[in-house]
Amino acid sequence: MTPSNSPQNASLAAFTSVYAIAFANMDQGFCLLEKVDTPPHHPSDFRYLTVNPAFEKHTGLDNVTGKTILEVVPQAEQDTMDIYDQVAFTGQYAHFQTYVTQLDLWMEATVYQISQQPPQIAVLFTNITEWKKNERQQSFLLALSDSLRPLSNPVTIQTTAAQQLLAELQAGWVYFVSLAIDNDTISTLEGVSKEEPLALLPNTKMSRFGMSFLPDYANNQALHYGDTQAEPSFTEQNRQAFRTIRAGALIAVPLVKEDKLIALLIAAVPTSRVWTQQEVDLVKQVAERTWIAVERAKAEEALRKREAEFRIMAQAAPALVWVCSALGENIYFNQRWYDYTGQTDEQASGHGWTMTMHPADAARILPYWKRCQLTGESYEGEVRYQRHDGVYRWHIFRALPRRNSAGQIEAWYGLSIDTDDAKQAQEGLRKAVRHKDEFLAMLAHELRNPMAAIHSGLAILNLTTTDELHRSTVDMISRQTEHLVRMVDDLLDVNRISQGKIALKTERTNLVDLVRQAQQSLEALFEQQGKVLRVSLPTAPIEIDGDATRLTQVVINLLTNGLRYTGERGQVSVSLVHEGNEAVLQVRDNGIGLAEDQLEAIFELFVQVDNSLARSKGGLGLGLTLVKRLVEMHGGRAEAQSEGVGRGSTFTVRLPTLVAAPQSLAKPAQQAPNSWTPRRILVIDDNADAAMTLGMLLKLKGYESHTRTSGRSGIEAAEALQPTVILLDIGMPGLDGYATCRLLREQVWSRAMIVIALTGYGQDEDRQRTREAGFDGHLVKPVDLGELTKMLTDLLDNDRTTLG
Ligand code: ADP
Repeated sequence: MTPSNSPQNASLAAFTSVYAIAFANMDQGFCLLEKVDTPPHHPSDFRYLTVNPAFEKHTGLDNVTGKTILEVVPQAEQDTMDIYDQVAFTGQYAHFQTYVTQLDLWMEATVYQISQQPPQIAVLFTNITEWKKNERQQSFLLALSDSLRPLSNPVTIQTTAAQQLLAELQAGWVYFVSLAIDNDTISTLEGVSKEEPLALLPNTKMSRFGMSFLPDYANNQALHYGDTQAEPSFTEQNRQAFRTIRAGALIAVPLVKEDKLIALLIAAVPTSRVWTQQEVDLVKQVAERTWIAVERAKAEEALRKREAEFRIMAQAAPALVWVCSALGENIYFNQRWYDYTGQTDEQASGHGWTMTMHPADAARILPYWKRCQLTGESYEGEVRYQRHDGVYRWHIFRALPRRNSAGQIEAWYGLSIDTDDAKQAQEGLRKAVRHKDEFLAMLAHELRNPMAAIHSGLAILNLTTTDELHRSTVDMISRQTEHLVRMVDDLLDVNRISQGKIALKTERTNLVDLVRQAQQSLEALFEQQGKVLRVSLPTAPIEIDGDATRLTQVVINLLTNGLRYTGERGQVSVSLVHEGNEAVLQVRDNGIGLAEDQLEAIFELFVQVDNSLARSKGGLGLGLTLVKRLVEMHGGRAEAQSEGVGRGSTFTVRLPTLVAAPQSLAKPAQQAPNSWTPRRILVIDDNADAAMTLGMLLKLKGYESHTRTSGRSGIEAAEALQPTVILLDIGMPGLDGYATCRLLREQVWSRAMIVIALTGYGQDEDRQRTREAGFDGHLVKPVDLGELTKMLTDLLDNDRTTLG
C-alpha cells in the first residue's frame, strides 16, 4: 500500500486533476458505460457510469448516471449497441459515424474497452450534426439545380422545385404564391400538396392570415410559425384561416427583386413543428434558385419569341432580308431572297450570295464591305442583284452589325429593296424635266425673234409718229412689249438658275445707289398708275459684294409686284438700312396682302396666289423665285410678311454687307461722242421683218443700212457693199451665223469689217462661242437701240484708233 501522502500519491492526484479539468472542458462528449445483463434475444443495453458536461450539451440529456441507454433513449439504434457489444467483448476499439434519430444527433464516435470484467467501455464522440446537415442540404440544392436546368416552362420549374422541397422537408404542401400589385391579393399559385389540393384560391387576401410582408420583405426576411394555432399575434379568424389551408406550422419566404415583392414560397405542415434555422435557410435557398431558373426560362422564352418575331417580320418584309456572320458568311435569308434570286439554300450559303451581285457592283462594293467589317460602320449603298430570270435590277441596301457583350461584331443584319422601277421612273422624270427646261429655253429664245422685230418697229414708229393718238398707242404697245420681254427674260433666268448656269459677276456695289436707280426707273410707271412710291435711303453708302444687274432685278421685281398687287390708292414704301453685318431692304405695300400659308409658297417656281386680283395682274409666278434665288446666291435671304389678305405685304431682303472702307464707286460716265459719222451697216437675219425693221431703225438713226435674209446672200452683199459693220443673226437655216462669220473671216476683203452677233442667247458661254467664231460683238435680241448705238460707237471709235 502506498501511503496517501507519499510522493507517488501526490503525483497521481495531480495527474487525475489535470485529466478531470480537460474532461470537464473539452467539446467532445464522453461517457463510461457498463454492459447490463439482459435475457437472451433481448436488445443489449449499457448503463451510464459517468458522463462529461459536453455529453449533456450535445445529447440534451441530463442526470443519466446510473440509468441505462434504453431507459434514456428507448429508440436507440441497435446497430450502435452491437458495436458497443463487440468492443466490450473483443477489446478492439471502433470508430464510426452514426445518427441517433431520437436525439436528432449525428456523432463521430470512438469506442474502446476499459475493462473486460466487469465489461466496461468508454465512448468519445464529436457532434457532427451541423456539418452532416449542411452536407445534405448542399447535395439537395445541387440535385435541385440539376433537375431545374433542363426545364423551360416556368410553371414546371416551380412545381418541380415545390415537389423536391416537399419531400426534403416532409411538408404537407409547398406553394409559390405570386401577389398582385397591392402585395396582398394572391394572383397565381403553383406548387404541390401531399393530400388533396390546397383550398387557397387566386384572389384570396394574404391579410386573412394575419401575415403582413410589407415591413419585412425588403430585408428578404423569412417568416416562420411553429404553431399557427397558438401564435399570440393571430386572431381567431386568422387561426381558422390557417386551419382551412392545413397549415399548423409554416415557413414563408418573400422573393424580392429590385425592391418589389414578386412572390412568396410557402412550405407548411398540418401540425405544429419546431422549425430549425437550417430548414428556414433551405426554403430561402430553394426560393432563390427557383427564381433564377424561372428568370432564365423566361429570358429564353423571350429570346425564342423575339427570334420568332424577327423571322415573321423578315418573311413579311417586302424586301430581301439576310443575316450574315462577322466574316460575311450567311446565316439566314428570308424566303423572298430565295424567290427573288432563285438561289437554293446551298447556293446562297457561305459567300454564295455575292454571286447574285452584278460583277461591276461586286468589284466596287466588296472592298467597301471589307472595310465595314473592320470598322463596324453601317454598310449601305446601291447595287444590282440578278433576279431569277437573269435580269439585273437595282437595289438599295443597308446592314448594321450586332455586337456581343465584349463589343465584338457577331453578325450583320441587312435588308435590300428593289428600287429598279423607282430608279427608272426617276430617270424618266429627270429626262422630262430636262426636256421641259430645254423647251422653255427654246420657247423663250424663239419668242425673242418676233419680239425683236416688234421692238424695232415700235422704235421706228416712235421716232416718226407725230399724231398724238398713234403715239399713245405706240407707247401702250411698247409697254406691253417690255412686259413680254421681261417675262421671257425671267423664264430664261429661272431656267438658268435651276440648272446652276448663272454665275454672278460680283463687285463692290453700293446698294443705296442701286435702289435709287431702280426707284428712278419705275417712278414714271407709278405716276402713270396714280400710285405712290416712297423711298427712304440712308445717306451713307451700304456696300456689298454683289452683281449690280442681278440685284437691280431683285429690287425691280419687288417694286413692280408692289405696283401690281395694290389697288387704286396703292402705296409702296421702300426702306434700306444697315443692321449689323446686313443690309436690310424692305418693300412694304398696302395691297391685297397674303394669307399665312402663302408666305413661303409664293417664292416657289410658278406659284401664284389663287385670288382674282392676283390672277388678273399676275405674270408667270417667276419674279419672287428669281428674287429668292438671286438673294440666296448673294448669301442673303428673302421673306414675306403680311397681316393677312387685304392687309398689305412686306417683303424683306437681307444681304451680307462688306466691312471694308468704302471706295469710290462712281465709274466715270462714258462720254458719248458728240460727232458721229454715218457708216454702212449690213443686217443679215432670216426673219425678214426683223431684218427690215432693224434696218429702218438704223436708217432713222443716220446709218446707211442694207438687209439680207440668208448667210449666203449676206456674204455676197458684204463683198459687194463692203459695209463697216455687219449685224449677223446666229439662228438661221442653212448657213447659220457662226458658219457665215467663219466664211466671211476667210476673205481678205472682210478683215476690217466689224461683225456683231444677234442672238437670243446671252450667256457667257454663248458670248465665248461668238468670239471664237470671229465676231467682234454680241447683242441679245430684242436689240436695245441704245445698246446697239453705244456698241457701234465704241467699236467704230476703237476701229478708228486702230486704223490710225
Ligand atoms: P407673278 O407676280 O409673276 O405672278 P411672282 O413670283 O412675282 O410672280 O409672285 C408670285 C405670287 O405672289 C403672285 O402671283 C402673287 O399672288 C403673290 N405676290 C407677289 N407680290 C405680292 C404683293 N406685293 N402683295 C400680294 N401678293 C403678292
